[in-house]
Amino acid sequence: MACAIIAAAGSGERLGARVFKLDYEILGEPLVIHALRPFESCSLIDKILIVVPPSRLSFWTIDKLKSFGIGKEIMVVAGGRTRQDSVRLALEHVEGDGVVIIHDGARPCVTVELIERVIDIPEGTSGVVLGIPPVDTIKEVRTGRVVRTIDRDALIQVQTPQAFPASVLKKAHMLAKEHEFEATDDAALIERMGGLVVVREGSRENIKVTYWQDAQLAESILKGRKT
Ligand code: C5P
Repeated sequence: MACAIIAAAGSGERLGARVFKLDYEILGEPLVIHALRPFESCSLIDKILIVVPPSRLSFWTIDKLKSFGIGKEIMVVAGGRTRQDSVRLALEHVEGDGVVIIHDGARPCVTVELIERVIDIPEGTSGVVLGIPPVDTIKEVRTGRVVRTIDRDALIQVQTPQAFPASVLKKAHMLAKEHEFEATDDAALIERMGGLVVVREGSRENIKVTYWQDAQLAESILKGRKT
């Protein structure tokens, strides 16, 4: 059994909406509810921690989540300044040494199948992430000038959910805080302490809603699943 942390404490400034990103409605429901549902449905997840902006704590009560059909054991935690802070604050509430699955609340098109794909961490490794090959050519650029073109075959665009043994992830966060190391995903903290992370195939539908165009795409993906 595993515990899921949904990091949904971002502001969503780049989305250009007047609400926090987790509250942005897609097909009449808040973005974060779409991201939560597959975790509610997945029988391998026994507890969910959802990290929200501190000012949204009074709105996102357990009763509110229940009104959207989220009935699993769930805890709502106030997020921090960065994503990394938010995950670390949630980890303080994770007990025992099971598997912890981290997911971006901004990825509303996650499925039970994708959660199941990461949950089993191979012996001798410290985590599993999802990834897809990039389709664009990626260049390193400084002050508007190309420094080099990176070999695309060696690159992977990484997604969440990502799964780790709870004790390993807690240690990675503790060390990162101690050494003031910041990263944009949890796997990077494990890699930094020498842990081996494996990649499994993600999905082109598992997009992260950052700009309004992403919200439109997410809406059409979710709509397509309903019909
Ligand atoms: O900013 P970015 O797009 O990388 O955010 C990824 C995820 O991290 C989003 O789901 C966002 O809500 C979450 N986040 C958070 N706490 C923050 C900043 C971002 O939980 N302080």
